[in-house]
Amino acid sequence: MTHTVDHASRFRDASLRLALRGMTGLFGVGALIGIGPLASGTEPMAFFAPLFVFVCSALAWWRYRAGDRRQARWILTVVSVLYVGSLAFAPKLIVLAVGFPLAFLLLLLLHLIHRSAMAKKVGWVTVGTVAFGCVRLLATADWATEWPLATGTVAQVGTVALANGVLGRLARGWEEALAKLEDAKQRLAMNYEVAVDASQAKSRFLASMSHELRTPLNAILGYAELMEDDVADGILPEADDLGRIQKAGRHLLMLVNQVLDLSRVEAGHVDLVLEPIDLAELAAEVVDHVRPQARAKHTELRLDLDDSVGEVRLDALRIRQVLTNLVANAVKFTDAGTVTVSLVEGIDDVQLLVRDTGLGIAAAQLGKIFEPFQQADETVQRTHGGTGLGLAISRRLVTEMGGELSVCSEEGVGSTFTISFPKHRRVQQAS
Ligand code: ADP
Repeated sequence: MTHTVDHASRFRDASLRLALRGMTGLFGVGALIGIGPLASGTEPMAFFAPLFVFVCSALAWWRYRAGDRRQARWILTVVSVLYVGSLAFAPKLIVLAVGFPLAFLLLLLLHLIHRSAMAKKVGWVTVGTVAFGCVRLLATADWATEWPLATGTVAQVGTVALANGVLGRLARGWEEALAKLEDAKQRLAMNYEVAVDASQAKSRFLASMSHELRTPLNAILGYAELMEDDVADGILPEADDLGRIQKAGRHLLMLVNQVLDLSRVEAGHVDLVLEPIDLAELAAEVVDHVRPQARAKHTELRLDLDDSVGEVRLDALRIRQVLTNLVANAVKFTDAGTVTVSLVEGIDDVQLLVRDTGLGIAAAQLGKIFEPFQQADETVQRTHGGTGLGLAISRRLVTEMGGELSVCSEEGVGSTFTISFPKHRRVQQAS
């Protein structure tokens, strides 16, 4: 709620500054004009009345500059009410010509510079001073000849009172609306902070959990390996169960590593080290790395590299991780087919494509595969293993490096995964 006061009071403060400047200037000029009637001795009040308001407004301005807004506001209010009240003693014509417009202006000023409740109260004092002037007018009026003036006067007092009521309501409504708006803004900001905190806490939790899980897992796998040696040496008889322990352990370790990776990316804790990378060289290395798996599946691995692409500024470790994931997937989902890794230069980007002639992905699943823990269908886990995290991590990493990872695929025909980086990430070659 403190913000509410800030907003509304800032508006009141701006109005006060404007009123102070306006009144000092206006009544200063008024006093100068009044020097004429003063000198001729016809109307000394024409000089002294505006001079009084000018001096008081200047005083209020000085208090405002000294930082005391409250005093400034009240000096301005009292002097304005007094000025309107003093019109009660002016000649009839002046009261009618100046009194009511001034009363309206004063009401407006009051509602702008005070809180709505206070402005309404001071407004009633103003209505009172105007009413007093009218009573005086009516008391001295010649009813036989001046009845239009008399009835007009009464009507105008009513109008001033009505104006005070309407302005009061408007100001209150405005204050309330502002309060609600500020309240909603604060709640929104709070909710946002809570959501961000919760998400970061989740990622921190995942990161530390994964870390904690890895230590015992590595121990299990280590001991399983030792036992494997014992089986080989004939010390332990059964190899099958051991194989199962190792398989499950490796799968779990992979899962934990990927969860750790994903949570790091999501928490924004991936520190990229950007350096010039020769993508053609990288692609050849990655393909070599997965060659044994491809051979086992009778799948041919092809390279189609445009060497002129040169170097691109990327994180070596992360781009290798992404490309390895894509090529390994392509091999995993392709039996006795072809996997081609190409490097091409587009109009405004550089593209690494991994194309396969494998299973392909159904259109309905295409949108889901980049979500964490999503696999094209339930049979994939049984038949091909995996965690459903690789592509989620890959897409986030590519985005972090300023690129895009996309896919197009047709079921039964094959898939093409494309990593593209804008050309401006290329390292300019010295010519
Ligand atoms: P994982 O391979 O560990 O299951 P990914 O996130 O790498 O997890 O892949 C998610 C899913 O996308 C896979 O389970 C598979 O259904 C589908 N997919 C990925 N690459 C291919 C591909 N080259 N051909 C067919 N399906 C694929």
